[in-house]
Formats: sequence, structure tokens, C-alpha cells
Amino acid sequence: MNTAEKAEQLKQVTQKMEQDVEKLPLVKEAKEVVPSEGNPDAQIMFIGEAAGYHEYVQRRPFVGLAGKLLTKTLEEVGLRRQEVFIANMLRCRPPNNRDPLPEEIAAYAPYLDAEIDIIEPKIIATLGRFSMGKFLPLVKISQVHGQPRWVDWPASPNRGEKGKKILIMPLYHPAAALRSTQLLNTFKADFAKLPQLLNTLNGTPAHESKPTTESKPEEPQNQQLSLI
Ligand code: URA
Repeated sequence: MNTAEKAEQLKQVTQKMEQDVEKLPLVKEAKEVVPSEGNPDAQIMFIGEAAGYHEYVQRRPFVGLAGKLLTKTLEEVGLRRQEVFIANMLRCRPPNNRDPLPEEIAAYAPYLDAEIDIIEPKIIATLGRFSMGKFLPLVKISQVHGQPRWVDWPASPNRGEKGKKILIMPLYHPAAALRSTQLLNTFKADFAKLPQLLNTLNGTPAHESKPTTESKPEEPQNQQLSLI
């Protein structure tokens, strides 16, 4: 698919979600949906949790304080917000910013899965435990953050052909990083591994890539071991 075709398909995913509002949790009107945004050709896709107040008002993901940290950290590692793709598990704002419920995550999953299928990112960077849990259930973020893992994609056997692998980089949520200096340092150190990881996947020789913290993904066949 070329860029224009991907952009058109991504637009259709959002339109479908807006048409589906009556059967989706936490939204009543299309204008309450907070769509994903970014480059249809993105090599890195970020997945957060759900919209907050600013995202709800602007109808854009990650534009509040946590979003500002995400944008700044992207720039610090030499990436631009416009070149990545940014999505959320839920496309709405949970009341009082409470945690998403499993049934809410499930209701919005088909739209997220469709976006992943269209973009085919090289890396999915999960922001926080809810998006991490989609790909790496039963692990603790405190134990696996910053450690890239291969997972099967599509994850569900009834969603098309199996056999693809996708690299997941679990990161802390930027909102958590804003609450603790120690987590902020960890968030930034983990984040800094992304450009090198991408270079490794793209086969760029080390001397042509920017120096960042060394980070090699574990081989797909080690996936099970790495999850224990
Ligand atoms: N937190 C998220 O998880 N997503 C947003 O879009 C904003 C804050």
C-alpha cells in the first residue's frame, strides 16, 4: 500500500468508529471520539491508554502534559512527532480519568488492530501497562520496561493469517514519568533505545547511525524464554 492508500484506510477506520458510537462504551456522539494521528508510513507506533481532558477537548491524542513530555522526549532522541503514529487503547475519556475496563479495551480493539494492520510498524512502543498488556499479558512493567520483545501478530488466531512478528518496546507511561524523577530518568533511558533499535531492524551499520544506548531485540525464537 502506498502512503495515500494507507492514509485513506486510516481515515476510514476513524469514520467507522464515529459511525459506531452507539455501540461503543463511554461515547454518545462522534465528536467525543479522539482519533489516532501520525504518519501512515510510520516505522514506530506509540500506543497509550485513553484520552484525558485536553485530548478530549482537542480531539487529538497526547496533547496534554503527558503528551508534551512524549513530544519533547521524541525530539530529544532525534525523532519527530510527525514521523511516528500515536494511538490509544480507548478513543474516549474515561470518567475521572479512571483506568480502562477490560470490556472497554475489547470494544475499541478492532480499530486499533486495523490501524496496526494498515501501518505495519516495525516497532510498537507501548506507553504504560494497559497497552503493554495487549501484547505482553502477565508481565510487570517494572520488570520488562525498556526490553524489546517479539510477539506474534495478529495476536488473535481468528484475525487472519498468523506468522508475522512484531517488536514491542514496553515503556512507562509519560504521566507516570511526570510523577517521579526516577521514573522520568528510566522513561528517557528506555526511550533513547528506540532509534538504535530501528537502525538494527533496518540493517543500518552502527557507524551510520546516531550513538544511543545499545539495544538489540531478542530473537523471535527466544520470545518465550524472555517472557519468563
Ligand atoms: N494519556 C494517554 O494514555 N493517552 C493520551 O492521549 C493522553 C494521555
